[in-house]
Amino acid sequence: MIFDLHSHSTASDGVLSPPDLVSRAAQQGVDVLALTDHDEVRGVIAARVVAAERAIELVAGVEISVTWAGRTIHIVGLRVDPEYPALLEGLRGNRSGRQDRAQRMADALAGAGISGSMEGARLLAANEELISRTHFARFMVEQGYVKNMKTVFKKFLVRGKPGYVNHQWASLAEAIGWIHAAGGVAVLAHPGRYEMGKEKMALLMAEFKELGGEAIEVVTGSHTPEQVPVFAAYAERYGLLASVGSDFHAPGEGGRELGRLAPLPARCIPVWRDW
Ligand code: AMP
Ligand code: MN
Ligand code: MN
Ligand code: MN
Repeated sequence: MIFDLHSHSTASDGVLSPPDLVSRAAQQGVDVLALTDHDEVRGVIAARVVAAERAIELVAGVEISVTWAGRTIHIVGLRVDPEYPALLEGLRGNRSGRQDRAQRMADALAGAGISGSMEGARLLAANEELISRTHFARFMVEQGYVKNMKTVFKKFLVRGKPGYVNHQWASLAEAIGWIHAAGGVAVLAHPGRYEMGKEKMALLMAEFKELGGEAIEVVTGSHTPEQVPVFAAYAERYGLLASVGSDFHAPGEGGRELGRLAPLPARCIPVWRDW
């Protein structure tokens, strides 16, 4: 069985519509796919019909942006009820700050000589409530300001660079609370991407566990082969289940293809064990 429990559609910063994403996953041999758009669940409903047709199991998911200890982390919710009011309200709150944030990013980029990025990003975002850094990055690559996505982030869109702005997202407790209220399990997304020392990471793991978080991504498109055993050990130490997801956004953009993932190390307990 191939599980891919982290992916994006046009409901956030992916480029495939929810039905096209599900079809591609089926073509790639994925058996169980979670659609986990940023701060948004409206794609799940649209994806369901095709999943039933293609005999692929669709997990209703979300990836919530969180501010923890002054930095941004992502919490994936799996098997959530995509119509649960408290979840929808929480996600709406997270999305509502994005418009103003996008304008601040565009102003900052204009200061660095990149004009028209607000319009550009808005045109690339299918969901007008969900303008992400990815849309700015795509605009800048398309306009020829930068050669590829990796370079845009490195030079412009990360902390300390001209197009990065601070933003306050939901708290860790809120995100986990919304996921649990909606019947889902909370998964710490791509922990290897957070530039944290061991002490900070230990604090994050402990607090996540304390707040009722269930799992961490051990195998993800953004972990190197060396990081997999490191986070398998964290999962074991903190009594957390292990998840697997590509974090697919777009064909040919440099990220991981759907379903193309290493197996979980034997010591891990898969998040789907009791599903
Ligand atoms: P936002 O939620 O607006 O902060 O956008 C975050 C998104 O930007 C992530 O989900 C990724 O899709 C993308 N992203 C962040 N860092 C990178 C990177 N180094 N390379 C490519 N995409 C990135
Ligand atoms: Mn993204
Ligand atoms: Mn993420
Ligand atoms: Mn993601």
